[in-house]
Amino acid sequence: MLTTAALYEKYRECTTVSTDTRQIAPDCLFVALRGDKFDGNQFALQALEAGARYALVDNADVAAQHDRCLLVADTLLALQELARHHRRTFGFPVLGLTGSNGKTTTKELIAAVLAKKYAVEATHGNLNNHIGVPLTLLRIDPARCQLAVVEMGANHQREIDLLSRICEPTHGLITNVGKAHLEGFGGVEGVRKGKGELFDYLAETGGTVFVNAQNAVLMAMQAERSTRTPNFGNVVFYLTDNVPELLTEAPVATYRTATGEVIQTHLPGRYNFENVAAALAIGQYFGVPDADANQAVADYNPTNNRSQVVVRGTNTVLLDAYNANPSSMAAAVQQFGQMPAERKAVILGDMYELGDESPAEHAALGTLIAQQHFDLVILAGKDMQYALPSLPQAYYFPDKFSLHNWIMDNPMQHTHVLIKGSRGMGLESVLPFI
Ligand code: ATP
Ligand code: MG
Repeated sequence: MLTTAALYEKYRECTTVSTDTRQIAPDCLFVALRGDKFDGNQFALQALEAGARYALVDNADVAAQHDRCLLVADTLLALQELARHHRRTFGFPVLGLTGSNGKTTTKELIAAVLAKKYAVEATHGNLNNHIGVPLTLLRIDPARCQLAVVEMGANHQREIDLLSRICEPTHGLITNVGKAHLEGFGGVEGVRKGKGELFDYLAETGGTVFVNAQNAVLMAMQAERSTRTPNFGNVVFYLTDNVPELLTEAPVATYRTATGEVIQTHLPGRYNFENVAAALAIGQYFGVPDADANQAVADYNPTNNRSQVVVRGTNTVLLDAYNANPSSMAAAVQQFGQMPAERKAVILGDMYELGDESPAEHAALGTLIAQQHFDLVILAGKDMQYALPSLPQAYYFPDKFSLHNWIMDNPMQHTHVLIKGSRGMGLESVLPFI
């Protein structure tokens, strides 16, 4: 069996790391992971044939078939240890970022701001779990990087602790603590504890945390730890509304910078201002000039169905179909409710992973929607039926196909449309029909 140090030498001969035989780059290290449906060991030889330099496997029979197979007891653990080993060669700050909502958006904003001054490496897309975080770290070339921003996602306890011990952040940010992955975390208190593992790690190691001083939950989490841990003194508090001044919130935020310039972002939604404020605070901490930081925020364009503004004929669509949970759904519905528009429609899909709380959370959403003035309410998905009692005028579709047909038969005009639901709903599919 290979030691981590020996494996690291092999890794250094490789161009990149891949866990997917469909993405084998010449001379990469293929890591054979076991998933629910597949065992990567079965594909190791194929990966070598396709050009991988080595294949990391945990099946001795497979290892015996090729001299470029590297045998370990557990490939996932070996991948994580390899990433930690590599991370320890970084002589620069590593910012770890978690939270219930807005991680990817905030990560991209932070990376854009910091890139004005440093060579920055950040998580690609949403590679934020026990496999994605190691892959993110292993992609970083320490010779070409001055600062790393690593997104850490979790849907159960101890996961952020594990990820922190792999990426060993020197700095940390929790975007917020909300109702996401309630099922795995065991309620909101569970989420708070689980996300707090990042603060715990930074308290233990004397790292620095960034705390939004207007977020009572984050402030309480900081306070609890500072009484417990004398080391937890490196806290940078920032305010969501200090600089810059928010001028308009909809459909995109416009703000006035400290120097009086007016900047328009491509980010609709008041909640995005919280994400912007975090990025600006972190930019300021690392010495990025304000004007550069503001420009980076103004130039940032969201992608992947996250907070995108899309014009379709006479309609303006707020496409937020990337994901949804009770907190982000409430933020989006309220925000949209306040938006000035001639005619407003919402197309909302189920919020997943809520376990026993799902009926109550969907019912609460129904009440919230009923308090707004929407001209058209369209709900889709199994659990959205629980929202119906408060919404006698709503159109309800248990599945997407009946939804598509209805929208095709009832075209919208001059309407602002909010589209949001959990990833599994894939509600961006309605866009072509609007
Ligand atoms: P994931 O758990 O999938 O990685 P994430 O935390 O990375 O999600 P984003 O991808 O940045 O979050 O945003 C997903 C959606 O969450 C957005 O489209 C928006 O609806 C909502 N959102 C973004 N920022 C906030 C925020 N600060 N507060 C509440 N909701 C937010
Ligand atoms: Mg994300």
